[in-house]
Amino acid sequence: MTAESIFPRLEPLLPKVQKPIQYVGGELNSTVKEWDSADVRWALMYPDAYEVGLPNQGVAILYEILNELPATLAERTYAVWPDLEALMRAEGVPQFTVDAHRPVRAFDVFGVSFSTELGYTNMLTALDLAGIPLVAAERGDDDPIVLAGGHAAFNPEPIADFLDAAVLGDGEQIAIAITEVIREWKDEGRPGGRDELLMRLAESGGVYVPRFYDVDYHPDGRIKRVAPNRPDVPWRVHKHTVMDLDEWPYPKKPLVPLAETVHERFSVEIFRGCTRGCRFCQAGMITRPVRERSITTVGAMVKQGIEESGFNEVGLLSLSSADHSEIGDLAKGLADRYEGTNTSLSLPSTRVDAFNIDLANEFSRNGRRSGLTFAPEGGSERMRKVINKMVTEEDLIRTVTAAYSQGWRQVKLYFMCGLPTETDEDVLGIADLAKKVIKAGREATGSRDIRCTVSIGGFVPKPHTPFQWAGQADHETVDRRLKALRDSLRRDKEYGRAIGYRYHDGKPSIVEGLLSRGDRRVGAVIRAVWEDGGRFDGWSEHFSYERWMAAAERAGVDVDWYTTREREENEVLPWDHLDAGLDREWLWQDWQDAVSGGEVEDCRWTPCYDCGVCPTMGTEIQIGPTGRKLLPLTVV
Ligand code: SF4
Repeated sequence: MTAESIFPRLEPLLPKVQKPIQYVGGELNSTVKEWDSADVRWALMYPDAYEVGLPNQGVAILYEILNELPATLAERTYAVWPDLEALMRAEGVPQFTVDAHRPVRAFDVFGVSFSTELGYTNMLTALDLAGIPLVAAERGDDDPIVLAGGHAAFNPEPIADFLDAAVLGDGEQIAIAITEVIREWKDEGRPGGRDELLMRLAESGGVYVPRFYDVDYHPDGRIKRVAPNRPDVPWRVHKHTVMDLDEWPYPKKPLVPLAETVHERFSVEIFRGCTRGCRFCQAGMITRPVRERSITTVGAMVKQGIEESGFNEVGLLSLSSADHSEIGDLAKGLADRYEGTNTSLSLPSTRVDAFNIDLANEFSRNGRRSGLTFAPEGGSERMRKVINKMVTEEDLIRTVTAAYSQGWRQVKLYFMCGLPTETDEDVLGIADLAKKVIKAGREATGSRDIRCTVSIGGFVPKPHTPFQWAGQADHETVDRRLKALRDSLRRDKEYGRAIGYRYHDGKPSIVEGLLSRGDRRVGAVIRAVWEDGGRFDGWSEHFSYERWMAAAERAGVDVDWYTTREREENEVLPWDHLDAGLDREWLWQDWQDAVSGGEVEDCRWTPCYDCGVCPTMGTEIQIGPTGRKLLPLTVV
């Protein structure tokens, strides 16, 4: 397969499409290496448009790490919009990388990072445009290894037929290990072809190769067992955990987008993992344990990243950034360092307490005091206990009072609808809470110029969480509750006009639920949707519930069975052979505790409660305070 640039064939198409700049590459800090300087080559894809894909941290980190390796190159590719797809098909232009516009099929690995299952159809488009057979079993020795990673790869079964391999967990070390396996196999003259390469990857224990596992079913459709069909392939595949984030200070040279993107800032991950134990949160469960990056390294990364990119906003990322053990020192140190400059700091706030307001004040020293976001997630105290989000109404009111009285005028509250055991009253409780927030704000400021936006997402039960056994609420129930909530807010003469309301209907959550907890039989639905024109399913203007339901019917897949059905304790779940480290018995007990009102503390500050991750993975919680300082100490 030739690796020559396809740009001469792409260029004439670009004036005919929207936002052509997203396809031209050449961003500051992008890398183009000579093709022949490398013997292992990766094409990395984020399966969404450039504007969403470019800021993705996972792809950016692997791109840099792989390009730093000798004799290895990595380039990026994104989903092309339907206007360019049609022209590429008409002109025979293949899926290309934006860096050197090389055809994706020429690479050794086609790595796709899935943050959400709604990117599956976009992967099929890319494979098809690349000229790579959609079905893994039909690929030949000239085709790349199609490899999935990211959070959705913790249950890759619905796309198992389309994948050669999947990797669970942190990608830094395993990407290097996979590169070395491929290099060795190529150096030896590719013995045994593609099959042997996949065997070598599978035998390593760190790469899941779906074709080496057979799935048997009971007559009623439940899974009987998943078993390796070759000797030397492990029964379970484990996730990867990077234990010292200070050793992996990436991105060092952040990519600066050419076209508009969803986040235009330099993001530094200040810790990985979360042990707060919110039962709905797959990210929190599968990234355990907590591993903090030291304040010194964060400071150095911020300094270098700004210098290398020219960004004037820095985001301190994690699943709950205010929980970093030295966040106070970090916020103050960075705010001091950049005071009076054009560099502003941001912190995704999800915890509801007064400490967050102090932090927000530090972070807004150089910027606008626009809005604060809090996520109580559940509308009633009872609901918040079920999901283990231990926030009382009192906490919330105290926090927003502090925020409003210190000059913040806009508070955004995030909730979910369709949670296990939820009733209509729990959802209507969101309206009461929002009204109390406005009332508190008016009292604290003496002003009526107070706003609160209520934003609601549909709950989807996810694999590797205590809710993996739960029945998902059907979309009719979710829509009915959301409508009742909207009516309750609108009816209120005193507070209704001060409360904004954002929600989506419940249908996309059902499709996400099908894909999240699906098994290999769901692959036929994904393919049928794609053949019927399904693209960009994460975008409401492209998503079609009817298309998904029609495809499921054609494929003989009962969507309710996969979504609204509650599972028994001993049912074999499609992802049971994929090990996120969590003890299955602990997860089941936590699901029982959810229903009976039992709470779990955060193991960072209380004794270990044996979720299983640390002993299984050989890891441990890594938190400060380290007593180290933010360097350099000079104020810019
Ligand atoms: S094993 Fe214990 S310390 Fe480790 S994440 Fe689980 S509960 Fe926390």
